[in-house]
Amino acid sequence: MIPKSSILLIEDEENIRSFIATTLKNQNYKITTAASGTEGLHLCASLCPDVVLLDLGLPDMDGIEVIKKLRTWTSTPIIVISARSHEQEKAKALDYGADDYITKPFGTVELLARIRTSLRHSSQMNAGSLQQVPVYRHKELVVDYEKHLVTLSGEMIHLTQIEFKLLSLLAQNSGKVLTYSFIMEKIWGPYVDNNNQILRVNMANIRRKIEKNPAAPEHVFTEIGIGYRMAEADQS
Ligand code: CA
Repeated sequence: MIPKSSILLIEDEENIRSFIATTLKNQNYKITTAASGTEGLHLCASLCPDVVLLDLGLPDMDGIEVIKKLRTWTSTPIIVISARSHEQEKAKALDYGADDYITKPFGTVELLARIRTSLRHSSQMNAGSLQQVPVYRHKELVVDYEKHLVTLSGEMIHLTQIEFKLLSLLAQNSGKVLTYSFIMEKIWGPYVDNNNQILRVNMANIRRKIEKNPAAPEHVFTEIGIGYRMAEADQS
């Protein structure tokens, strides 16, 4: 049996801590817990876990500070655990280098999916293979980065230059949420103003072209108040 990955959970609420710890133990993950930011930082340095689960509301320091400190020396995936309706906080966490977030209250299935996605991304990153995947496939949608081609059920979809760049950026980070500010900067450069209107308009156009029902998207999902997440590529 392949040894499962190690996970460090930094969370001060005991009931959430034990729920997550039990869930992950049952899945054979190696789990270590910390109840404060300071303890979490120490444990992360000594254990070098494969994934960090981080609550943003900690008693001794802001979770954002923990992210900033970790990102000075490690690229280990950080999944933020946050309360509902704290969109700005989540977006900030992502912009400071968290990889993903999960909103309380969450279920086991969602938690495990987030962890698997983060582990897959980091192992692809380490293998340097993330950039080499030439094609994104999800259901009937194909994005071919090199040929600059998007097809839906084999039919070519005409996208503008910006729309193609936008869709490619999301596809190359599929499964991950990308914040509005991250996308804006990547597509329009660092001096773009932070009005998201131009992004929303382009995204609406993309959806009209690639989604059967733009109101119930299958490929690009809106993370309200935060950004967009493209469906994880099919595993070939
Ligand atoms: Ca807390």
